[in-house]
Amino acid sequence: MVQHPIIIITAPSGAGKTSITKYLLEKYPQLSFSISAATREQRAHEKNGIDYYFMSVEDFRQKIQNQEFVEWEMVYEGKYYGTLKMELERIWGQNRVPVLDIDVKGAIHVQSQYPDSSLSIFIEPPSVEELRRRLMSRGTETEQTLADRVNKASYEISFKDHFDQVIVNEELSKAQAEACTIIEEFMAKG
Ligand code: 5GP
Repeated sequence: MVQHPIIIITAPSGAGKTSITKYLLEKYPQLSFSISAATREQRAHEKNGIDYYFMSVEDFRQKIQNQEFVEWEMVYEGKYYGTLKMELERIWGQNRVPVLDIDVKGAIHVQSQYPDSSLSIFIEPPSVEELRRRLMSRGTETEQTLADRVNKASYEISFKDHFDQVIVNEELSKAQAEACTIIEEFMAKG
């Protein structure tokens, strides 16, 4: 295994990134979810320190100033998300491999900082039309947020060649199996 390994999973919203990440975390005990810092509202089913480290915008900005982040982004208007250096250290300290479920720009930043020890996987929706259908069926989008997410997705797909691996999520079980092959190869390296 390489020193300071990192697995980055990225995708446009609605491509199935979270389902694939959860599956991998359950299957491989040596992987550990990298808990991001975030300033958005905590949702009802979420736990602080498990899903995210929820914090105020002031605290987040202070951490930016203190250079505590590997990367951070304003993923949505006014909402900051970021990967803390301490979080990666915590996971490496347990001899485990952090798995980052982050947006495309953040993924590119992390990758550029750990070019030799990171594995980046881009989950691609079968088409933008299919992504629109999936987002609509979630029932959580307004017409405007749906249009915003679809536009953002098209933009993000244009970056897919930056990543080490691309998995087209046509059928979840196939995409999961593909992800397993890629992860096992990465973990056997070194
Ligand atoms: P949500 O608010 O739905 O939990 O997440 C919104 C988006 O933020 C998702 O695409 C998620 O992958 C991304 N995200 C979560 N944590 C981070 C992070 O630490 N850095 C970046 N750049 N994006 C993140």
